[in-house]
Amino acid sequence: VSRAAGEIGPPRILLLGGTGEAKRLAEILTDRGEIEVVTSLAGRTAQPSLPPGEIRNGGFGGADGLAAYLAELRPVAVVDATHPYAEQISRNARRACAALGVPRLRLERAAWKPQEGDDWRMSDGLADAVDLATSLGKRVFLAVGRVAPELPASYPDHFFLIRSVEPLAAQPENARCLTRRGPFRRDDELELLDGHRIHVVVSKASGGSSVFAKIEAARELGLPVVMLRRPDPPAGPLVNRIDEALTWLSYLLEDRAAGRSTWV
Ligand code: NAP
Repeated sequence: VSRAAGEIGPPRILLLGGTGEAKRLAEILTDRGEIEVVTSLAGRTAQPSLPPGEIRNGGFGGADGLAAYLAELRPVAVVDATHPYAEQISRNARRACAALGVPRLRLERAAWKPQEGDDWRMSDGLADAVDLATSLGKRVFLAVGRVAPELPASYPDHFFLIRSVEPLAAQPENARCLTRRGPFRRDDELELLDGHRIHVVVSKASGGSSVFAKIEAARELGLPVVMLRRPDPPAGPLVNRIDEALTWLSYLLEDRAAGRSTWV
């Protein structure tokens, strides 16, 4: 990936990915051809849905590792389009970019807003969320990604329906585990909640459309949703939409063309 000293090529960005938005942004930029994209994935998913362009996989080794990687890659910018709950990598990106003076943009989809008929209970962290959910009903749909297989054992009188992209490390006794990747449709979610006689849903406040159908289904069935509160976004420039990220990048390229770049 690194270029020899003096080697000329199109400007490139490091795109911290693992989300639908990151993939879409890589597709658009690759189509346009003005900017080369190197997408970084954490390597957690066995068969990730891959964007076009260069891909690198696995952690960098903290903020210092990321800074060393950036010093070699020499991107014109970093776009952090990781998931709203991926706090650590966003923190590392902020630190590494600040240390090297690399412009960084956070692309984070807007959170959902409750509407008429929604019964959301906000909670801080998974343990609190599960405590609250189990106080609300005996049959819990855990739709927060992969969880520790030991978690349901603390609630032996409850049933858990657990859905994640990657399988759990072991099959808990009082749970049914589904390995599925979104997007999910409202009718299927209704059938799932109804079929398993679910009383309460636990969800991240993910935003976006891909996993929203479970929230609509819960509303329709009058079920409470225990929502894990979103972490604060990293400080610095932030946009919610892909078109805004494209605008930010085009200003950045204009600045560079005009000699106003901080990273040369
Ligand atoms: P995290 O807690 O913020 O990150 C933990 C560590 O994983 C980071 O310190 C970093 O390791 C590595 N890492 C995370 N994202 C990376 C990336 N894009 N490229 C390279 N290394 C990365 O992240 P997480 O919540 O485990 O999420 C991991 C990935 O899954 C993210 O890319 C995220 O976009 C995606 N994802 C997360 C969720 C969620 O609910 N958290 C949902 C959907 C998708 P080093 O310190 O060694 O660099």
